[in-house]
Amino acid sequence: MIISIKELLNSENYGNKVNVKGWVRTKRGSKNVAFIALNDGSTINNIQIVVEVNEQNENILAKIHTGASISVDGELVKSEGKGQNVEINSIKIEILGESNPDEYPLQPKKHSLEFLREIAHLRFRTNTFGAISRIRHAMIFAVHSFFNERGFCNVHTPLITASDAEGAGEMFRVTTLPAKDAPTNEEGNVDFSNDFFGRETNLTVSGQLEAELAAMALSKVYTFGPTFRAENSNTTRHLAEFWMIEPEAAFYDINDNMDLAEDMLKYCVKYALDNCKEDIEFLSKRLQEEEKTKPQNERSQELIEKLNFVLENNFERVTYTEAIDILRNSKPNKKKKFQYIIDGWGADLQSEHERYLVEKHFKKPVILIDYPKEIKSFYMKQNDDGKTVRAMDILFPGIGEIVGGSQREENYDKLVTRMNEMGVPTKDMNWYLDTRKFGTVPHSGFGLGFERLMLFVTGMGNIRDVIPFPRTPKNAEF
Ligand code: ATP
Ligand code: MN
Repeated sequence: MIISIKELLNSENYGNKVNVKGWVRTKRGSKNVAFIALNDGSTINNIQIVVEVNEQNENILAKIHTGASISVDGELVKSEGKGQNVEINSIKIEILGESNPDEYPLQPKKHSLEFLREIAHLRFRTNTFGAISRIRHAMIFAVHSFFNERGFCNVHTPLITASDAEGAGEMFRVTTLPAKDAPTNEEGNVDFSNDFFGRETNLTVSGQLEAELAAMALSKVYTFGPTFRAENSNTTRHLAEFWMIEPEAAFYDINDNMDLAEDMLKYCVKYALDNCKEDIEFLSKRLQEEEKTKPQNERSQELIEKLNFVLENNFERVTYTEAIDILRNSKPNKKKKFQYIIDGWGADLQSEHERYLVEKHFKKPVILIDYPKEIKSFYMKQNDDGKTVRAMDILFPGIGEIVGGSQREENYDKLVTRMNEMGVPTKDMNWYLDTRKFGTVPHSGFGLGFERLMLFVTGMGNIRDVIPFPRTPKNAEF
């Protein structure tokens, strides 16, 4: 059986004969004894291998460099060194795969995140990406565990779809038609009846509409899958391929929806603090070093403090109208420091405004509700004022929008009217409208961008660094 380094480091079975396998982080030592720091990704910590140099192993040792993979048979012993309880006295070392030190791009020193993005196939082997990968796993697990505990049913919604859920039209087409000389119809447009699905299809931007169908029978459902957006926004918060968690619950109103979202975010943050302590501590230290280079007033809160802060405070629930008043009278607005000046009701909020509300004004997470209907999607429930819809966006420090959700319009006539006003074709959407025709009920849901949650929990500043293989404009390597 293969024992992980994590298990070995926690073991007190001194004297046991063990086998350990992993990748060499560093090798140092003298003529007589060598010390190898070995890591297998099960933990951020390395196990130390102590090798007495002799005639049999001399040649093998000379070939062991950073990045090589080795298998070691040895004895688990109590460590005299600080920072570790156990180490392994090597009896026999075998090289599984050599690594040429002149070519291996990862040196035992700090590399920039930009450089590591260029070697995404190897960056898993760094402390930073090891930590992020393990936290990512823990967060996936926490999401499923949260919904499972609450009786939500996980549904898989399609990735290939013929509808544009957001009506934004920023979709990637899925086709088997030839790129050159695709068949055209009489009007000269591409003839999709010859395409694989007999119609135009795209990669989904959201599983919400299909999740709504399931909620109209199973009551509480959620999807957790990849979504694709061909938006050309080269920011630190946008990916062209990202993972989204979308619960949808029958009989939930906007308040139930806000409670659910707040509970879920707190559950995930608590799970990370309880289960990823070493990795978060490592990332916190890393972040603090980076913050030292910034002026005092631009430094962000220490990571663990920031995570606890979210757990301990209720999210502030504020209407869009109140938020506009706050922003209009704010210093950066009056001094024209915002890139987009807020001059009246109806303006769409930019990330700079969202972050002002969270970081400067309320100093805690904020849930904004009752947005103008013009800046929100067709499916949101219309308020009686005729101007606003029952939307809820959750804004987080350092990130801005982390959740976008709403109570849905369950009234058939109101929904159709709104779709017509907004130019959403009702013709192909009978399957969606049927839910409002047969036993419609009030219901609500939201979308949480998984990588935005990852940004928050890891304290990383760029979304490209919290997903193994980021997809962004002009970049789909690996
Ligand atoms: P933003 O204004 O930040 O672009 P949005 O209004 O387009 O967000 P929604 O369509 O409501 O976002 O999507 C729901 C959630 O999905 C967002 O709250 C966010 O967490 C996440 N999200 C949206 N677009 C992206 C993206 N391109 N990359 C990563 N996450 C995203
Ligand atoms: Mn967007």
